[in-house]
Amino acid sequence: MIVAERKPMAEIIEMVKDCSRVLVLACRGCVTVCSAGGEREAAALASLIRLGMKKQGKTIQIIEGSLVRQCDKEYIDAIDAWNGQYDAIVSTACGVGVNFIANLRKDTMVYPALNTSFFGGSAEQGVWTEQCAGCGNCVLHLTGGLCPVARCAKSLMNGPCGGSVGGRCEINKNTECIWQSIHDRLGSFDRQSQMETIAPIRDWSTAGHGGPRKTVRTDLTIS
Ligand code: SF4
Ligand code: SF4
Repeated sequence: MIVAERKPMAEIIEMVKDCSRVLVLACRGCVTVCSAGGEREAAALASLIRLGMKKQGKTIQIIEGSLVRQCDKEYIDAIDAWNGQYDAIVSTACGVGVNFIANLRKDTMVYPALNTSFFGGSAEQGVWTEQCAGCGNCVLHLTGGLCPVARCAKSLMNGPCGGSVGGRCEINKNTECIWQSIHDRLGSFDRQSQMETIAPIRDWSTAGHGGPRKTVRTDLTIS
């Protein structure tokens, strides 16, 4: 899932300080699962915005709404239910949702309530960790299912750097060196020799470095 967390309230209040009517719009997708932007978090945010504005001696009218997802055109259309009732939307979706509203509602100002962080999973209650960087050219079949792109601080592709000590990363001693973990995991399958194959210079154009990416499935498109 996409993992995100709420921006500091001072930043959000600064965004809406000149608004008199705001739609706080929750997303019932990934950000609900990571407890950052679902209906419960959006309701709490609405209260905090009212309080923050009151502290500045201002009043603000807030309506609360939610969409099934904000990253899907067919669900964005449901925003029309609140037409004429707000000056701006504060979206608790990830950055994808905010972009989608901006793309599809040219006359609507939309503000992000969250900082979108990474693709990850829930490691334990209340803890999410990054697992994939969406590089567009997956190598997990070569690395025992552990991602060197997202989980090595330097995205190294041919084993650990010289700073790997005791299974810890030199960038952050609280983080495992994923290359040590890849080595150990391949070893448990008697496949350590896989690490002797030098990975070719990587073409990063399939990652974000090649510009915005697009996937087209002609078997699904309606022309
Ligand atoms: S190699 Fe690329 S696609 Fe595969 S998990 Fe890592 S970042 Fe994601
Ligand atoms: S110590 Fe390991 S995880 Fe950290 S940057 Fe070096 S190779 Fe990558």
